Amino acid sequence: MRIAFLAVELYPYAKVGGLADVVSSLSKSLASMGEEVWVFLPVYTVEAPQVDEIEVPLLGDMKKVKIRMRKENGVKHYFLDDGELFPRKEVYGGDELLRFSFFVRAACNYVKKLGGCDVYHFHDWHTAFLPLYVKDTPSVFTIHNLAYQGIFPKEDMKKTGIPEENYSSYLVDGNINLMRTGILASTLLNTVSPTYAREITTPEFGAGLHEELKKRGKDLRGILNGIDYEVWNPEKDEHIPANYSVEKPEGKEECRKKLMEETGILHEGPLFGFISRLVEQKGLDILIPAISRLVNMGINLIVLGTGEEKYEKELKRLEQRFKGRLYVKIAFDARFSRRIYAGCDYFLMPSRFEPCGLGQLIAMRYGTIPVGRKTGGLADTITPERGFLFEEYTPEALLSCVKNAVEIYRKEKFYEMRKNCMLSDFSWKKSAEEYLKLYRDAKEVWNGG
Ligand code: ADP
Repeated sequence: MRIAFLAVELYPYAKVGGLADVVSSLSKSLASMGEEVWVFLPVYTVEAPQVDEIEVPLLGDMKKVKIRMRKENGVKHYFLDDGELFPRKEVYGGDELLRFSFFVRAACNYVKKLGGCDVYHFHDWHTAFLPLYVKDTPSVFTIHNLAYQGIFPKEDMKKTGIPEENYSSYLVDGNINLMRTGILASTLLNTVSPTYAREITTPEFGAGLHEELKKRGKDLRGILNGIDYEVWNPEKDEHIPANYSVEKPEGKEECRKKLMEETGILHEGPLFGFISRLVEQKGLDILIPAISRLVNMGINLIVLGTGEEKYEKELKRLEQRFKGRLYVKIAFDARFSRRIYAGCDYFLMPSRFEPCGLGQLIAMRYGTIPVGRKTGGLADTITPERGFLFEEYTPEALLSCVKNAVEIYRKEKFYEMRKNCMLSDFSWKKSAEEYLKLYRDAKEVWNGG
């Protein structure tokens, strides 16, 4: 089957969050199963050989778009380069509506030039311009995070060159809502865990779109994300101080020691890690008020993240207060994240909601026991054998869960759980098969089956 992915993030070229990892590892997995996969991405700062050039309409003009391509891991990565809108350093911000709509138009035009595909796979609102460009091909739309919907004032649609008579499917309350368009216009759709798929049909998690999602209930699936077991592998990871595995676990202790030295953690005690975008979704409103009590419990905590200024400032302030116990780095630092996953005992994910979450999966792969909130993908992946969950979204519930986790610290149960984590399988194989079924079903639905 020939599948065309459209996305604005792709690991390692453009990564802001989990979307980048998913696009990269899912496409790779499908290719390894013998499928033909094309991934389309704006060029950003990627250097790749030019293989073609097309002309694409933009606001009454024709604009030249260079097609750059690199085949990696069996997947053709197409980087679109118009010399102006696509070569950017940042993925998000600025003229998003113009840029993303032009990206989708250019990518779909090029797919046509290549003879078409069996199914289009659109990722998140950034690519949800589908009703206009794919009238003749089945489409799958994936909601990676319903909290980001692509809402713009109606007048902004003029900037895209999309004719006014076609606006109606994009509107909610007079505004453009691209997520809604993707939900309603795709042949079949999914989100990234079974629990989140159920949650988003309720007013609490539906972010204003639960009615639309309920309406599409039978066409909406939950397929758990995996992680790339080659990219994340403590046995081979070159960026951690010592390698280790279930059979030879000694290296993890070395990683821990080095991480403590690097971060100036001076006290013995359970070492927790938290790596995340610093936004409300990730549970900062219950984590920050719990920090002084965590420290009093004898816990050490390493935080890595960037995001909202109020959280960054508050965390930095707390770091000053709890020096030697709390280390905070405000940055996006992929290498440091690996040393944290490898060196910590536990990994915290107190998310308010979590479509799937990759952090807990990576942590488990590195033998770091997850402590998370029972929501979305965290509820689907953290079982009592390999982690700890709490339900209520309060600092108290978080603290009492951490207390349970710490009670087993360095006891037999702790090592047993660590082993269970490392032996669990969150590789892509099973999920990629579910996606393949989704594509086949989309084709069947499209053909009136
Ligand atoms: P989301 O996509 O909502 O941000 P996920 O848990 O699905 O959350 O994916 C987050 C990914 O981004 C993980 O691979 C995590 O390690 C990585 N990540 C998040 N923040 C940082 C950071 N500051 N530095 C390095 N990696 C980060």
